[in-house]
Amino acid sequence: MFIFKEKKALRNFLDSNAVAGTSFGFIPTMGALHEGHLALLEQSAARHTQSIVSIFVNPTQFTHPEDLEKYPRLAESDIELLERSGCTAVFMPAVEEMYPEGTAGGSAPALGRLGDQLEGASRPGHFEGVVQVVDLFLDLINPDELFVGQKDYQQCLVLNKLLEARYPHVQLTIVPTLREPDGLAMSSRNLRLTEPQRAVAGLIYQCLVSVQTKKGVQAFTIVQKECREILERKGFRPDYIVLADAHTLELLDDYLSDRKMVALIAASLGDVRLIDNMLI
Ligand code: AMP
Repeated sequence: MFIFKEKKALRNFLDSNAVAGTSFGFIPTMGALHEGHLALLEQSAARHTQSIVSIFVNPTQFTHPEDLEKYPRLAESDIELLERSGCTAVFMPAVEEMYPEGTAGGSAPALGRLGDQLEGASRPGHFEGVVQVVDLFLDLINPDELFVGQKDYQQCLVLNKLLEARYPHVQLTIVPTLREPDGLAMSSRNLRLTEPQRAVAGLIYQCLVSVQTKKGVQAFTIVQKECREILERKGFRPDYIVLADAHTLELLDDYLSDRKMVALIAASLGDVRLIDNMLI
């Protein structure tokens, strides 16, 4: 596995490998890798001769500086994991390498309501930051396929918009969420949960399951209220528990039989914000 810290070196490597029959899968990450990330890599490695993983804790997508500071950074163990998992090259640039002229700007497509609601409402500027950095990566790497996790559902729709606007030749593949045995979606942030917090964290998944199983049985507002109460009783601070159109993320008041829907939950335990979702 090759390790690159500079854009130029990575580009030279990609150019020298771009021979007939070669195809490139790309998996952007912020590191502290777990099996969820590796599931993306596995799909890429099965379909492409070259799989490129980036590890970059992107400052422009963090709304709160303390969240950026506390984000786990585990470069050595990440490299070991990637080496065993079919990664061709890992790109680990410094902030100055990605933003030599500073982090302001970027000319990414406007996201509108998709970028402002839910995660975007709680973390203003978050998706603009995500689009800014993925745009830079796609421009640099020019992959055939981009692999993202369903766990970050709103991010999947946002990146789909970026691809449609700028990189229509890049295929987007959304990989289902990998979970711990109690249902908790795997996340680098889980490392920051205390033992008692970790013991109740699987409740978010149970709430999503109840939203799914109560379709056609109860009104969504009742299920929503029950979920909120269950989470609050166990020490969560729920931010949102919503039902939305799976394609547009338009918020829905109740279940609709003729639409593909997604239930989304964000809730904090202490200072750790957890998100999860389930297709309904
Ligand atoms: P992150 O490092 O958190 O920015 O995640 C990098 C990529 O891995 C994103 O596309 C995430 O959606 C995806 N990912 C993170 N956690 C999981 C998971 N538990 N299952 C599947 N994909 C995931």
